[in-house]
Amino acid sequence: MSEHGAPIDHRGVALGHDGPARGGAVDLRALPQESLAALVASMGERPFRARQLYRWLHQKGAASLDEMTDLPRAFREALAGRAALTTLACASEQRSSDGTIKWTWRTADGKLVESVYMPEEDRRTLCVSSQVGCAVGCTFCLTGTMGLARNLTAGEMVDQVHRANRRIAELGLAPGPRPLTNLVFMGMGEPLANYRNLRVALGVLLSEDGPNFSQRHVTVSTSGLVPVMQRLGEETPVKLAVSLNATTDEVRDAIMPINRRWPLAELMEACRAFPARNGRRITFEYVLLAGVNDSLDDASRLAALIRGIPAKVNLIPYNANPGLSFQAPPPERVVEFQEALAARNITVVVRKNRGRDISAACGQLAAEGGPGDPRRRAAASLTPPGPAGY
Ligand code: SAH
Ligand code: SF4
Repeated sequence: MSEHGAPIDHRGVALGHDGPARGGAVDLRALPQESLAALVASMGERPFRARQLYRWLHQKGAASLDEMTDLPRAFREALAGRAALTTLACASEQRSSDGTIKWTWRTADGKLVESVYMPEEDRRTLCVSSQVGCAVGCTFCLTGTMGLARNLTAGEMVDQVHRANRRIAELGLAPGPRPLTNLVFMGMGEPLANYRNLRVALGVLLSEDGPNFSQRHVTVSTSGLVPVMQRLGEETPVKLAVSLNATTDEVRDAIMPINRRWPLAELMEACRAFPARNGRRITFEYVLLAGVNDSLDDASRLAALIRGIPAKVNLIPYNANPGLSFQAPPPERVVEFQEALAARNITVVVRKNRGRDISAACGQLAAEGGPGDPRRRAAASLTPPGPAGY
């Protein structure tokens, strides 16, 4: 059981090792606004200082206390004595011919995670990672082959957004200091297995004194952690995406081990119960794998599964990963599948394959090893330490 009483016995769920060891020092960027205010108050400073500090951290994306030039030096020194401020370092930047940029970030303890920037005419989206690796182990996903190293802290999730915003502005790719308009938690990791930190990160990202993203423009994707889906729906206003990827328990068990813990019937029940406030619709992601889940019977079962749920379907033709033995269906089959859903009045789009030339497409993120990488075995054998992440 988790601390909140939800049953957790799947290896993709009970994962709670939070971030690099910092000798107990609290990380300023990982604190919700109220906690930062309390810390500043405990130092005998007036409330406006807390707001100034929060804005430096989350509106301007300051990388260090040194940048915060309008905060008194004595206050900054006192802060440095009380707390840490960690910032992601850019380990690599790859730019695709289609405008996509993939960054690999290095955390304070030397872990690597990735974010992907996808510019479109009407929006600029960042795909954010939530964990170093992933324990869920979907058989078609490169991140899943890594195993889980650890959860990202709230600060590390939020900082991906700050670093990307700054870099996009610096490159002059978009106007203004904060060019990103949309966020999708669809990078490395299972966000709902790191729910406690995710919730703090979402609070910061939506806050007026922070980057102030619109709740309609933030989407969290899950492989189907049923009990946490409910909490996300109740406790946050963001949108939900569910990686469905199969229409029978037999196939889903085989490609997404989490289905053995929460099978389709329970997953669909949780989707139906997800509060649809402000007209939020669920996005069902469906990776098309040739000969596995791409038959027209699958299309018809998919339509039946989601009937009655305010939803849209995102079809994602499989992105090839070295060492994984799947194939994408031929383009005609993708069109037939899409048409079969549309004919049943389902809103359906085929997700554009962004950044394939730099391995930045869905399921291709694996900064630290994939199949064949010797580091992989070490990562996969890690026993998830610590308490549940939610
Ligand atoms: N762990 C969460 C968030 C990651 S989102 C989740 O699984 O929902 C990553 C998305 O990419 C998921 O919808 C997943 O099904 C999809 N995906 C994974 N590997 C893929 C691949 N090789 N080709 C296409 N899509 C893939
Ligand atoms: Fe993890 Fe999502 Fe990849 Fe599955 S698809 S292994 S849940 S990141």
